[in-house]
Amino acid sequence: MFELQDAFARKFQYLRLSVTDVCNFKCNYCLPDGYRPDGRKSFLTLDEIRRLTRAFAAMGTSKVRITGGEPSLRKDFTDIIATVAATPGIQKVAMTTNGYRMAKQAADWRRAGLTAINVSVDSLDPRLFHQITGQNRFHEVMAGIDAAFEAGFEQVKVNAVLMRGLNDGDLGRFLAWIKNNPIQLRFIELMQTGEMDELFNRHHVRGALIKEQLLLQGWQQKLRAHNDGPAEVFWHPEYRGEIGLIMPYAKDFCASCNRLRVSSLGKLHLCLFGDHGVDLRDLLAEDNQHAALQRRLRDALADKKATHFLHQGHTGMTPHLASIGG
Ligand code: SAM
Repeated sequence: MFELQDAFARKFQYLRLSVTDVCNFKCNYCLPDGYRPDGRKSFLTLDEIRRLTRAFAAMGTSKVRITGGEPSLRKDFTDIIATVAATPGIQKVAMTTNGYRMAKQAADWRRAGLTAINVSVDSLDPRLFHQITGQNRFHEVMAGIDAAFEAGFEQVKVNAVLMRGLNDGDLGRFLAWIKNNPIQLRFIELMQTGEMDELFNRHHVRGALIKEQLLLQGWQQKLRAHNDGPAEVFWHPEYRGEIGLIMPYAKDFCASCNRLRVSSLGKLHLCLFGDHGVDLRDLLAEDNQHAALQRRLRDALADKKATHFLHQGHTGMTPHLASIGG
C-alpha cells in the first residue's frame, strides 16, 4: 500500500471533498454576488466519488468531509454520504453546510452514515445573519441544529467567521449560547482570497486576539488527535460547549496539516492556497484505474509545500472558498 505522506513526513488521513460549486447563500466574504452558473461544468458523479474515496481510503484516509459550494444542493446528496460511508477504511463522514436543508434532512443523512455536521452560523442576531449571508433564514438554520440533535448527533460544530465591525460584538452572545449546549463553536479567522482585498483589510480580526481573551476567561486548550481538523480546541469547566479556533495565519498552522482537497471537478489541491490542482478525472472513469489513481496521488504529494504563502499576501489561485471546497 502507498501511504499518503509528503516530503515533510506529514500524513494525510483527512480528505475534504467538494461535490458542487453551487451555493444558494451570498456570504459577503465568499460569494457576495451569489453563484454564477457555468453550464460547462459537470461535477463529480456518484461513481467517480466512489472510486476517488476508495483510492484515498486504500492509502490511509479515514475521514472524509463533504463540502462545496453547498453540498446539500445535490439531489443525490444522501447517496453520496452512503457511498462514502460504505467505503472500507472510512470511519468518519462529515459535512459542512449552510444548514438550510438540515431541518428536513438531518435524520436521513444520519441514517445514510453521516457522523458529523459542521454548520455555518455567522451571527446569532437574525438581522445580522441576513446581512452577512444574503439569506433571511436564521430560524430555519437554528431549527436544523435542533433536528440534528434529535436525529442523534451528539455534538454539532458551528462555524462562524468573526469580522471586525460586523459580528465581532457577538462573541458574548455566542459564549452564552454554548453554556448549556453541546456545540463546538469554531471561529474561523477571515482568510484573504483572490476576490476580496478591501473586505479583508476592513474586517480581519486576528484569531490570536480571541485566543488571548478565551485564556483570560479560564478556557483551556485540548490536545489534538491525528485525524482532527485544523482547529485549536478549548474547553471550560462551566460550559457544555467547546470553542475551536481556526487560525491559518498562526505560526506553525501548516506543520500539523493532515488534509488534502479534491474539487468538485476532480482536481487534487494540495493546499487551499496553492496555485494549481492536479487533474484526477481521467483516472476516475473505470474501476480498473485504481492503481494508477493511487500512483498519481502519491506522485502529486511529492510537490506539497511546507507552508502556504498567505503571510506574503500570496493567496494562490483560489478566488473564493466555494470554488474548491472551504
Ligand atoms: N456551503 C457550506 C457552508 O456554508 O458551510 C460549505 C462551504 S463554505 C465555503 C465552508 C466554510 O468556509 C464556511 O464555514 C465559511 O464560513 C467558510 N469560509 C468561506 N470563505 C471564507 C473566508 N474567506 N475566510 C474564512 N472562512 C471562509
